[in-house]
Amino acid sequence: QAKRKGKSAYALFAPEMTEVSHERLQMESLMRRALEQKEFELYYQPIVHTDSGELSSAEALLRWNNPGLGMVMPDRFIPLAEETGLITPIGEWVLHEACHAAMRWKKTMGTSIGISVNVSPRQFRDPGFVYTVMNALESSGLEPHQLELEITERLILDNTIETADILRQLDQSGVRLAVDDFGTGFSALSYLKSYPFDTLKVDKSFVQDVMKEADDAALVRAIINMAHSLNLQVIAEGVEEEAQTHFLQREGCDYSQGYFYSRPLPEDDFRSWLRSNHRVR
Ligand code: C2E
Ligand code: MG
Ligand code: MG
Ligand code: MG
Repeated sequence: QAKRKGKSAYALFAPEMTEVSHERLQMESLMRRALEQKEFELYYQPIVHTDSGELSSAEALLRWNNPGLGMVMPDRFIPLAEETGLITPIGEWVLHEACHAAMRWKKTMGTSIGISVNVSPRQFRDPGFVYTVMNALESSGLEPHQLELEITERLILDNTIETADILRQLDQSGVRLAVDDFGTGFSALSYLKSYPFDTLKVDKSFVQDVMKEADDAALVRAIINMAHSLNLQVIAEGVEEEAQTHFLQREGCDYSQGYFYSRPLPEDDFRSWLRSNHRVR
């Protein structure tokens, strides 16, 4: 009986699995060619001073424009890029492109705008990672403190000597370090005092309900106070409503990012947004 059941379960699921792995293989081979076909593009989302709404920096967010697939969002392809190791060359392209973009803005608009770049665990652990970062800075001419690398708690979780060492090297180079999606990684908080982070990005899941849920408001307030006690700056992610900005102002949150200010924009639109909407501070 058990054997028959196992067999029919197999018969039921096998075709689906084949389909899934076929799709994966197809995605993978398309992704292998995406860099040389210039199918990747960076969008930029403003990060503003919470008190004034003036621009402080921008986060670079990756998009994949494939003729067959259309625009693919990072949640759909970053995990596969991680698994296959393709994240290393893709991430290198992102770093170069983001640093050069920040320099273009500086040259054409005369203002320094910081740039934040997401780094995934596999990319971070690549032996050439620190060199890649230094190279992107050098070839663009961007100053190290203008670049902030966003790392998730997931990466810090498997805390190894190498992780600590890479973070220390990056910190010593003057690059800024942020914890992305703070509060979602089940991390012990102790890493905050032993690792050289500059910024905490409060995950949007907490920010989204600060006006509706007393618990979320209490958590965000506590995170801001804790961060400040540890000399860390705080960015609230996923700010969508004006009422949230007032809450964040009252609580002294340093920076905000979200659809309320702007969606992530292609570079041309980001420049227009800069010109028409906002002064830079
Ligand atoms: P993240 O780093 O936490 O980026 C913030 C995500 O929240 C972005 O999604 C952004 O579009 C979205 N977002 C911003 N404001 C709001 C808002 O007000 N409401 C809501 N609901 N969402 C908002 P996106 O661009 O789809 O990126 C998703 C994730 O993919 C990023 O999360 C990041 O972890 C990863 N990612 C993006 N670009 C890169 C990259 O170049 N390299 C790596 N390794 N990962 C990347
Ligand atoms: Mg991020
Ligand atoms: Mg530092
Ligand atoms: Mg985030």
